[in-house]
Amino acid sequence: MVLHSFGYPEPEIFGFFYVHPGNVASAGIFVPSWFDSPVRTTYRYLQHFLLHPYLWRYLEGGRLRSWGAKTLNEAGRRGEPHLVGDGWARIGEGSGSTNVLTGSGVDEAWTTGTQLGEAVLELLREKKPFTKENLEATYVRRRRASWLEQESLIAEKSRDGFHRGIVAGMLGMALAGFSHGRLHIPGAPIEHMPKLEDFFSERIPRCARRRDPPRSCRERQAAA
Ligand SMILES: Cc1cc2nc3c(=O)[nH]c(=O)nc-3n(C[C@H](O)[C@H](O)[C@H](O)COP(=O)(O)OP(=O)(O)OC[C@H]3O[C@@H](n4cnc5c(N)ncnc54)[C@H](O)[C@@H]3O)c2cc1C
Repeated sequence: MVLHSFGYPEPEIFGFFYVHPGNVASAGIFVPSWFDSPVRTTYRYLQHFLLHPYLWRYLEGGRLRSWGAKTLNEAGRRGEPHLVGDGWARIGEGSGSTNVLTGSGVDEAWTTGTQLGEAVLELLREKKPFTKENLEATYVRRRRASWLEQESLIAEKSRDGFHRGIVAGMLGMALAGFSHGRLHIPGAPIEHMPKLEDFFSERIPRCARRRDPPRSCRERQAAA
């Protein structure tokens, strides 16, 4: 069984549930980093997801064999950092290669590695040093001229619609896919994660928000 979910428990959360031979299953969720509540953690979302009756009927009574967490750079091209400098270059997902429209990251990561490998060989052949300028002229030039760049431009804004909800998100992806990136549904992430103190500002007395609250405040808190 292969099950993918969209929009549960939040519009921007994707989930998966794969059943393997021997009564083994793997399940997980993708949680964006820009959610506004510091108390709704990925862990809690995962619990919520697993307890959905559709999944729980398979999972109840099971034993956790292993677990893991991984950051996935779904900013794609928008999350592209500086690619090269004097004596270094970035490849793979950390270099913004992952395609957020197709959900593909492996081929892209390999391709950037290959492109850097070819660039390094070219520089070695020409006896040129690995300067920022030379790496730009070889590695970055290859990357910009390749299918990777073309596809990442198509994908760049494809998921923006999810900031408005699941329907807008799905429509936005379809629009971007069918129009080769010419159309998309706009949307912007919440820019900041509030601090716990700010999030609960109405419940926490002003004096208690200080790093070292005065004694009178601590006593009031303890009595409350
Ligand atoms: C749940 C999930 C499902 C996915 N499904 C797909 C899919 O179906 N198709 C697809 O194409 N892509 C998929 N992806 C994306 C794909 O896995 C990644 O885009 C791809 O693995 C990126 O490859 P990478 O080599 O750049 O980075 P990674 O595979 O992340 O490799 C980085 C490695 O560096 C190691 N590392 C980190 N820091 C250090 C350090 N300081 N020193 C030494 N080592 C370090 C890490 O342990 C890791 O092994 C999925 C990702 C996730 C999380």
